[in-house]
Amino acid sequence: MHMTLHLTNDCNLQCGYCYVCQKPEYMNRSTAEHAVRLAAASGEPSCGIIFFGGEPLLCRDTIRDTVAYCRAMERERPVRFHFKMTTNGTLLDRDFLEFSQKENIFIALSHDGTRAAHDFFRRDHGGAGTYDRLEAVTDMLLASRPYAPVMMTVSPETAAEYAQGVKELWQKGFHYFICSLNYAGNWTKESVRELRRQYRELADFYYELTKREEKFYFSPFEVKIASHIQGKQYCHERCELGKKQISAAPDGLLYPCTQFVGHREFAIGDVVGGIDEKKRTKLFERNELEKEECKGCAVIGRCNCHCGCLNYQVTGSIDHVAPMLCQHERIVIPVVDKLAKRLFQERNGMFIQKHYNDVFPLISMVEDMVKPEK
Ligand code: SF4
Ligand code: SF4
Ligand code: SF4
Repeated sequence: MHMTLHLTNDCNLQCGYCYVCQKPEYMNRSTAEHAVRLAAASGEPSCGIIFFGGEPLLCRDTIRDTVAYCRAMERERPVRFHFKMTTNGTLLDRDFLEFSQKENIFIALSHDGTRAAHDFFRRDHGGAGTYDRLEAVTDMLLASRPYAPVMMTVSPETAAEYAQGVKELWQKGFHYFICSLNYAGNWTKESVRELRRQYRELADFYYELTKREEKFYFSPFEVKIASHIQGKQYCHERCELGKKQISAAPDGLLYPCTQFVGHREFAIGDVVGGIDEKKRTKLFERNELEKEECKGCAVIGRCNCHCGCLNYQVTGSIDHVAPMLCQHERIVIPVVDKLAKRLFQERNGMFIQKHYNDVFPLISMVEDMVKPEK
């Protein structure tokens, strides 16, 4: 099981699209340890601990203590922990990078691409954009972790910068892109049209890089290619709300995923008393029900309509699909299918390896690990 530790709701930034209700609440050491014990109690040999916020680097002592606690537990029980952290990067320094390298903490950096797109939303409390502050951090991160992923958020106001942003981050050295929309944004017909244009440009970019056998993971395309190749199997691998991973809030309450944190009606237990199985199952089953608006849809097996987090964030309910989520799926699937068909028909080696060779992720990971440090 994966446990996301919401170490704090506090953040040193105030991004325009942030859904976190910022409060100076911090998870204490004991709560973090209880959460770790709960995750380990699932009995699985591999356990993911995700340091999340607000901004998790406001809590670096708790991160260090929690990692030390996990390592001590590994010496006593047959369990291995792996760690991830998502950060806005502004507090990332050499000291923490060395620690993360030693403990193998996977760091994902939030960055919105071009200066114009990034500074439009990602600002500090004084209203200043943070693009410039990330320049040196990005170089330092990639020198130490060349395979660090970048997390981009695309809003209607910044859609026209999407492809250029990906290209610029690629030039900087990022190879793994986890991109998501600001689904709650005010998407107009015009911005949706722009988004489609951007995905076509990104498909050309993906094609060129794949032809050159460059490593490029672009999440909106990879998941849709996988959904086509895996067919029904893909449905089995998708998120099962509250089952594969859960979120622990700073006060120790447990929630089924990140965006529910703080909404007590969705709490499914607490780190001391454990998971309330009845509540968890009820929520899971409710989320699995086919949404009224999706009945009969031809692409339901490939769609992300089951994401309770996004649906709740936008509609206030897990029973309805966020309208922009539906539009996004209808835009991206045809673009991806055309791209994949082209690469497949050309029998592109990189494409075939990446999507049809089960051990490719492992080979790719080993390649990344042995990449010489800059
Ligand atoms: S860095 Fe993350 S948590 Fe902080 S304000 Fe921005 S989106 Fe919210
Ligand atoms: S594309 Fe729209 S209607 Fe179809 S399954 Fe997805 S959200 Fe539902
Ligand atoms: S798909 Fe949505 S609900 Fe599921 S883990 Fe991801 S964010 Fe959470």
